[in-house]
Amino acid sequence: MRLEGRRLGLVPTMGALHEGHLSLVHEAKRHADDVALTIFVNPAQFAPTEDLSKYPRTFDADLAACERSGVAFVFAPQTADMYPPGFSTHVEVSGPTAFLEGVFRPEHFRGVTTIVTKLFGLAGECTAVFGRKDYQQWKVIERMTSDLMLPVRVVGHPTVREEGGLALSSRNRYLSADERARALAIVGGLRAATAEFARGERDVATLAAIAKAPIAEAFDSIDYVAVADADSLVPLEGRVHERALVAVAARLGTTRLIDNVVLGEESP
Ligand code: AMP
Repeated sequence: MRLEGRRLGLVPTMGALHEGHLSLVHEAKRHADDVALTIFVNPAQFAPTEDLSKYPRTFDADLAACERSGVAFVFAPQTADMYPPGFSTHVEVSGPTAFLEGVFRPEHFRGVTTIVTKLFGLAGECTAVFGRKDYQQWKVIERMTSDLMLPVRVVGHPTVREEGGLALSSRNRYLSADERARALAIVGGLRAATAEFARGERDVATLAAIAKAPIAEAFDSIDYVAVADADSLVPLEGRVHERALVAVAARLGTTRLIDNVVLGEESP
């Protein structure tokens, strides 16, 4: 492929593929001739209390979906391939990891940036596509790629949602029918904040309260509903200027869901 001068697109995933992942494949095809999709449930980005052992694994269906979507290469290593005995190197990004997910999952981004650096090293020059569903992850990887001068173009692709608005996520499989209905409160909160922003509301506390109200009603607990700078991820105070990220993490039973919208840029 390299000898023929073909451009590579890279889509890193943890498998349990859904239409959100496949939309990244289609985006990658716009930038590349051949697309590689990686499937690796990366232990380094899960805390001991998190869902590593029960994370959905649907390898055969994933391969079939890749084939249908015209993925040229699937890379699905074992844990011991990526972390052999003696493994001692980690990549840690400061700056945008200090907020939001970084507060509630303190080891998480170090695991993500380490594995993504390894995948970028294996892939070489490419365009890598990440979902804005994990907005902060996308921004952290952009920062890392720029800081380390990696030969990768990082592209962020919009969140794919179900008809009712629920963001597609491998973790939605954990939800009962009742929880799935209550989960819509997140997009309800994001839509309410988007509508108020469109009507001219710019006060950060008001916008956060509007987003939070339906989520507080429906969810068992909230990690955060935050209004932050859409580039640096620093929490905003006072007034929003042109655009701002509203990011949410909340729990239904043992399932933790995240979602976000950039006010002034998109509507969920
Ligand atoms: P995951 O397998 O959940 O680690 O996700 C792999 C990639 O797919 C990440 O870049 C995610 O942001 C992206 N992704 C997951 N869900 C969605 C979605 N609903 N829409 C767009 N991208 C998504």
